[in-house]
Amino acid sequence: MRFYSTRNKNEFVNYTMAALSGLAPDGGLFVPQEIPLYPAQVRSSLGSMDFIDIAFETVKPYVQDTIPNNVLSDIVQSAFTFNAPLVPVADRYSLELFHGPTAAFKDFGARFMARSFSYLRRNEDHPLRILVATSGDTGGAVADGFFDVPGIYVTVLYPKGRVTPLQERQIAGLGKNITALAVEGSFDDCQRLVKAALANESVDTEKNSKKQPALSSANSINISRLIPQAVYYSAAAGRAFAGNIDYDEEATPRIKGSPRPLEIKKGLITFCVPSGNFGNLTAGLYAMKMGAPIKQFIAATNINKTFPDYLNSGEYLTRVSQVTISNAMDVGAPSNFERMAAHFTLEEMREIILGVSVNDEETKETILRIHKEAGYFLDPHSAVGWKGVEKLITDNKINGTDIFGILSTAHPAKFSEVVEPLVGLPPIPTSLTNAMERTVNAKTIPADVSALMESLKE
Ligand SMILES: *Cc1c(COP(=O)(O)O)cnc(C)c1O
Repeated sequence: MRFYSTRNKNEFVNYTMAALSGLAPDGGLFVPQEIPLYPAQVRSSLGSMDFIDIAFETVKPYVQDTIPNNVLSDIVQSAFTFNAPLVPVADRYSLELFHGPTAAFKDFGARFMARSFSYLRRNEDHPLRILVATSGDTGGAVADGFFDVPGIYVTVLYPKGRVTPLQERQIAGLGKNITALAVEGSFDDCQRLVKAALANESVDTEKNSKKQPALSSANSINISRLIPQAVYYSAAAGRAFAGNIDYDEEATPRIKGSPRPLEIKKGLITFCVPSGNFGNLTAGLYAMKMGAPIKQFIAATNINKTFPDYLNSGEYLTRVSQVTISNAMDVGAPSNFERMAAHFTLEEMREIILGVSVNDEETKETILRIHKEAGYFLDPHSAVGWKGVEKLITDNKINGTDIFGILSTAHPAKFSEVVEPLVGLPPIPTSLTNAMERTVNAKTIPADVSALMESLKE
């Protein structure tokens, strides 16, 4: 498989180059030349295959000429040591993506990326520095994924004062090869700094001084984080289609003995994706194009509704992000829009995706109500997804009897500041209690590129 930049369709690179450089030299994002179809035999057995096998089949066509099958098989096995269960909640499904080490869906992409980078760089003695901008969850997942990986340094940029105390400890509490920069600005500023630093640097390690590590990025602008996220969509869609539904696991955040659904719905699923930078939704579109049995997508945002507005008006107007209680989605200029636009026209997007925006009041009301009615704990991001579905049903934009799989993008205990005062907390995963013990060690910098470049020299 070859990859091209969203800004230049005439030059191609292989997976190694696309992954290790992160952003294309012209500032564009790498996209696959085509989205491959699953073999018919895989497509018809998605509902019964193991998660690991679906992961292997999903990633394989993209990396085939750079990662041999036996290595890929080891990588997916060691990356995906946790499940993504599709759990019935009331008459919907919750696709629980928070059972990894940092309790948000970012673990899927970050863990795959870290392991594949180690392999792709196996003959490289020049160090690599990965820059990552985070609105809260990416930084922790990437830091955790790359912690202690030899030859790779990670610098996480996060908006000072706008991440939760737990997130800050996950980002800035590890030390060793992980450095944290608290940027005086918003997530969009962090993202802008990372892009500028990468554009400044040559991606070719030969041209760099021998002392300075080459730069790469680990945001969802990096294709190697995006592709593995297609896996849980295909697995969940396959299971919904086959009616092969997961029942509660120990770790499902539900009040014990709460009411169970009367019937299991079976058929084509509509995924509702709480979205910020739109990496997750883009990965879902890849899964659909590969042949997973998916009906449609809902892009649910908080009041940072650049994309829903685009679907409505046809005009793409980015804006300054506003602070909300679903902070990982406080994005006014979603990076992956460029990638979606490379694959789909506006009309095509309108056919596959419905947009909806949800405010903080509605989000809190939803956390309260789903807890009361179904005994289920939602984090603020997932609650945006639940409310998004309800609003579209009320507005007659979708049919209430369809099958909805709402992505639960983070564990409710990860956002205890919002969730606990409303409904209390379910048992807290040990990975989170461990992270709370760490001490924050971050350097504060102003939101300008020269300050970032200076601190990278240290
Ligand atoms: C990152 C994140 C999102 C947004 O995902 P995008 O891929 O940026 O659209 C939503 N919810 C949580 C909990 C997140 O961490």
